[in-house]
Amino acid sequence: MNNPIAYTVVSSLGHDLPGHPENPRRFQHFNRLEEPPLSEKLLGIEANLAPMSVVTAVHPPSYISALEKASSQGPGFLDHGDTYITTASYEAALEAAGGAIDVVQAVINGQANSGFALVRPPGHHTSATRPSGFCLLNNIAIAARYVQSLGHQRVMIFDFDVHHGNGTQDLFEMDRSILYISTHQYGIYPGTGSIHEIGSGEGSGSVVNIPLPARAGDQAFDAITTQLLQPIAKRFQPDILLISAGFDAHWNDPLANLQLSTTGYHQLGISLLHLAEELCEGKIVYFLEGGYDPDDLWDNILAILYSLAGEPLPVDRLGSAPFPEVSIDQIIETLQTLHDLEPM
Ligand SMILES: [Zn+2]
Repeated sequence: MNNPIAYTVVSSLGHDLPGHPENPRRFQHFNRLEEPPLSEKLLGIEANLAPMSVVTAVHPPSYISALEKASSQGPGFLDHGDTYITTASYEAALEAAGGAIDVVQAVINGQANSGFALVRPPGHHTSATRPSGFCLLNNIAIAARYVQSLGHQRVMIFDFDVHHGNGTQDLFEMDRSILYISTHQYGIYPGTGSIHEIGSGEGSGSVVNIPLPARAGDQAFDAITTQLLQPIAKRFQPDILLISAGFDAHWNDPLANLQLSTTGYHQLGISLLHLAEELCEGKIVYFLEGGYDPDDLWDNILAILYSLAGEPLPVDRLGSAPFPEVSIDQIIETLQTLHDLEPM
């Protein structure tokens, strides 16, 4: 197989709360990975449980044992009612983080060119010691530290989930070796991610928040890619590009109001792949975060996989958003000033 895309599926069937949006039904269409011609480009990887020595690079042992204890006493909630835990959740979280590690390793060791860890529970809201927003362990952060332990120091994380990745930002905001860029609808959960949060101390400038108004969509993401992501990434010179891939920014998602289309995700995937090819030998790995309509979720996951495979999108079932887009010119201008970028 030439240039395969590594992937793993961690469905976590026992991590379930009926009626909660983050549930195993999200994965009911995973057999769409068998669609040709995509299937011919995919390399399935068995997910192992994450080794404790890797997880503890992000979460202290006290947090991990508290999570194990809460899980053994489950079912219950870990925060204000949106992050549930069951007796299966501890192992599910370790398997999701393990899948993230295994996929990133396949890309680093050259087995695959790119990858997608299709895992749940998601991770980007969890900080070192605080679970939240349906997240238990921060999968992408664990993968980032693992990549660094293998000698690839400069890690760029782009988080296009509709919610701000407050956990990931919190973990890395003082660390200049990790560039964290987030697009998110501003003013919804978790409330963080203002344009002026740019990192602190040694990490000042290594956080770029792109808060978006409701109804920003495909055109906004085109502008963000060319006017912000590309120049910032070129300046940073990453060794690998890691993506927090939340598909709740699709216009039909029930939880928020950005309006990317499936075609927009495919186009974004192409732009990100080109960026990785230009800067880090094509090394790019996606990690699933949100996306809560089970049908739309797999349309959009497949759109990204088609972009990685260099294939056109066969179909956009839902088409473009039914509402006109808002302009984000002013936000881009402010960010260019804030982060010392030449206007384009
Ligand atoms: Zn989200």
